[in-house]
Amino acid sequence: MISGTSVKVTDVTSKCYRVANMSQAYVTLATNDGYAIGALVLGHSLRSNNTTRDLCIMITPTVSPSIKALLHGVFNKVISVDVLDSGDSAHLSLLKRPELGITFTKLHCWTLTEYSKCVFLDADMLCVQNPDELFSHPELTAVTDIGWPDCFNSGMFVFVPSRDTYAKLLRVAEEKGSFDGGDQGLLNTYFTDWHRISFVFNMVASATYTYLPAYKQFGVNAKLIHFLGSMKPWQHRYDVTSGSVQTPAGYHHLAPYLNSWWAIYIRLVQPGIPEMDIPRLLAVKSPLEDTKKMDISAIDSNEGRSHSYGHYYLRGGNEVAQQLAGLHLGQESIQEGLARWERGEPDYLGRDSFANIQAYIDSKLKSGK
Ligand code: UDP
Ligand code: MN
Repeated sequence: MISGTSVKVTDVTSKCYRVANMSQAYVTLATNDGYAIGALVLGHSLRSNNTTRDLCIMITPTVSPSIKALLHGVFNKVISVDVLDSGDSAHLSLLKRPELGITFTKLHCWTLTEYSKCVFLDADMLCVQNPDELFSHPELTAVTDIGWPDCFNSGMFVFVPSRDTYAKLLRVAEEKGSFDGGDQGLLNTYFTDWHRISFVFNMVASATYTYLPAYKQFGVNAKLIHFLGSMKPWQHRYDVTSGSVQTPAGYHHLAPYLNSWWAIYIRLVQPGIPEMDIPRLLAVKSPLEDTKKMDISAIDSNEGRSHSYGHYYLRGGNEVAQQLAGLHLGQESIQEGLARWERGEPDYLGRDSFANIQAYIDSKLKSGK
């Protein structure tokens, strides 16, 4: 009797635990295939770091069906958001503020009331250590923006879905707009009493962030890397032979993160993408770059940085296929990994764990191959 009772209690506890976790999610957004690829890498990196939370993505109809199918393999929920077509209050607000198109789409995350708490992550982020402790923080928790530290950076924020908050945000959007033309200006206007959390939860990895002594001291604790700015990881040149990204001037300190991003992309995302689509998908440019972070784009051009896109280092279909066939992570070939991945079974705790991906990059770099 006693042991029966205790079993029952254990069952209930573990069920409650699961239910509690089921009601919390990381949420991201993609309105085109480039950001959707970013979201796929982000999703895999969260799983590789053993997150216990749901993964949810909001997409617009502009994401291709083939990429949407891949998203279903990584995210628990793929939610279609079409503000332009919705006919609801967001649509009406958008008519008054057409410049805030993507911002209204992002605000939709507050309507995800099936979750009790969420963490929004930009699709240009990469998880390098488990950040689940974020869920113990209240709305709105975020990291300071490096451009104006009184503001928070809206690439990562803890929030509580609520129709009421959503309606209030739409009202602020209509009445006041956004002081930077994007979601960050709007959210900072609404959430003035936000909670600051360590930079390691949204560590900006951009050419303009150059506090290297602090980076050397604290960078090892980074949990979420944010490739903020006009040049996204998928727009860097990647050399399949060396297994490393060719980092332009000013980007060298970012090489380990860019290499990690690409290792996940090559290993877990690219095998599912039709080969013909790859150059097109990786060439997608952010339309936000001219309206947001004006200071950063100005500094970028002062440094003479390239603003052309589509750098993916492709040398003909067959050659790439051969290179990929030769890529090994641990003992498993890319084809074996692909077969497992197609079955929807990435081995996050084993070969596809973040530690192994890192070890693979290190071995490639050391051997100079
Ligand atoms: N985003 C999108 N499509 C776009 C631009 C942005 O889906 O054309 C989403 C995506 O999730 C992205 C986020 O909005 O990560 C914020 O934009 P971005 O990361 O380019 O801004 P930054 O962090 O560089 O200021
Ligand atoms: Mn971003």
